Amino acid sequence: MTYSIQGKTGDWEVVIGLEVHAQVTSDAKLFSGAATEFGAEPNTQVSLVDAAMPGMLPVINAKCVEQAVRTGLGLNAKINLTSVFERKNYFYPDLPFGYQISQFLHPVVGEGIVALDMPDGTVREVGVERLHLEQDAGKSLHDQNPHKTYIDLNRAGVALMEIVSKPDLRSPEEAGAYLRKMRTILRYLGTCDGNMEQGSMRCDVNVSVRKAGEGLRTRCEIKNVNSVRFVMQAIEIEAERQIDLYEGGGKVVQETRLYDPDKGETRSMRSKEEAHDYRYFPDPDLLPLVLDQAYVDALKAKLPELPDVKKARFMSAYGLSLADAAQLSGEREIAEYFETVAQGRDPKLAANWTINELGAVLNKRGLSITESPVSADHLGNLIGLIMDNTISSKIAKDVFEVMLETGEDPAKIVESKGLKQITDTGAIEAAVDQAIADNPTQAEQYRSGDQKVTGWFVGQIMKATGGKANPKMVNELLRKKLGS
Ligand code: MN
Repeated sequence: MTYSIQGKTGDWEVVIGLEVHAQVTSDAKLFSGAATEFGAEPNTQVSLVDAAMPGMLPVINAKCVEQAVRTGLGLNAKINLTSVFERKNYFYPDLPFGYQISQFLHPVVGEGIVALDMPDGTVREVGVERLHLEQDAGKSLHDQNPHKTYIDLNRAGVALMEIVSKPDLRSPEEAGAYLRKMRTILRYLGTCDGNMEQGSMRCDVNVSVRKAGEGLRTRCEIKNVNSVRFVMQAIEIEAERQIDLYEGGGKVVQETRLYDPDKGETRSMRSKEEAHDYRYFPDPDLLPLVLDQAYVDALKAKLPELPDVKKARFMSAYGLSLADAAQLSGEREIAEYFETVAQGRDPKLAANWTINELGAVLNKRGLSITESPVSADHLGNLIGLIMDNTISSKIAKDVFEVMLETGEDPAKIVESKGLKQITDTGAIEAAVDQAIADNPTQAEQYRSGDQKVTGWFVGQIMKATGGKANPKMVNELLRKKLGS
């Protein structure tokens, strides 16, 4: 299934590369001990280093390096044992140094691979070009005062991982799947919270178009898109703009653009002619970052089970379908919840209840799995009650409704509401006899060969027993009695 956009001159292919800036989960900044918590009062988390006071020297935060290496390992990437921090020079009001400490020629992480599960069941492998560590800038606040711009340096110096993909993506859907997968991997690793609304994961999108079989044409970069949906929209809109240009006899100029979701357009921010010459050079205040292979191996040994491996295990160990396994392994918390539910129980039933019954409720109420009104232990107990025939699947749905409201253990609800399934042969037999005696016409119908009335009889008996009779026993007894 290849994606293309139909223009006046035929089909166009879209070529996409993504640069993700992911804020490193760490209590302190990349080169200072200042705190990093989101939402603090402006300028309360700024050390002398972050404010670029004269004579201050940066000191690398080992925790941030560890997080970058762990992320590289999670992306199946090459870890470079020697990497170099360089100064990227540019003027920006909220960048006190006048440069950003980043990595350029020698990033800490090299090429890797991200596997995407596409909706049609295929797997797409997308190349990662590199991952490097760099500082974030501060923030200019233009909306606090009509005449002034305020600067908040809380974010200045916070560690970012810039993760650059190869131009391997070919459709808005693939780009969306890549971002979601990246976020899943980062969250599993605990190296970035992946929160795009709070800006802890931001995305720059490189887009170009071409005719099938051509080499790469000129690309444009759309800066700082802050949701997966906007990334997908921006790609489509930008690709169409480029196609219109080419087909109108014009050409695409390499430039940086902004996506405006309200107007549904991208517009020019700065062109290549005005592009900065960053004059990168190795930061003389920092030695090259040199890592031991043993250090990398130790981090690798302690990585959590990652989503692809978990998904494969869910299929082989629990016999789940690819779709169910992918859904349940998509978030670490959902996977943990599921495994608690499935512990010692029918895994397919556990998957079904977690995805369908509970999933629908969480979706409707806008809750995450960690906010679930029903605990994994309780949902597991409910499935236990179905499996040992204490309740039918139908009654289980009623019990689940009560669990949602009260948060009670299902066994207690079944007990107090008297919902226990009737498996006593005598009681069911009596109900069957009664139903046959009350409905001689239907009974005759059955005996004269119309077996379709069986279902109707089962319905009558279930109604008479408040839905509590074991349906399998009702069926067996009914056939026996009607047949005689
Ligand atoms: Mn960057």
